[in-house]
Amino acid sequence: MRKLYECRDRLQAQILHDALASQHIETIILGDYLTGAAGELSAIQFPVIWVVKSDDYYRARQLINQHLEGSENNNEIWCCQHCGEEVEGAFQICWNCLSPRN
Ligand SMILES: [Zn+2]
Repeated sequence: MRKLYECRDRLQAQILHDALASQHIETIILGDYLTGAAGELSAIQFPVIWVVKSDDYYRARQLINQHLEGSENNNEIWCCQHCGEEVEGAFQICWNCLSPRN
């Protein structure tokens, strides 16, 4: 196992996890279990994505970099054409139904 990326929140961790899974890269998310009730800032710990197979590490990093670079260019909210959910521009995948941004 190898540490891959420290995410800013659970949602981003899940989206990256799913994006990597779609490329057949197995990852696990650790470090977010201490999140307390809403508003308890002291309990928040950033989730960290770990790649299970070290051989996948460089490919996984590339995919994450691509994902993050794509995010910087557009922070507008977009509307998923599949389920109609509003999604933050930072994400290239609908958090609700996991459809790619269109
Ligand atoms: Zn959707």
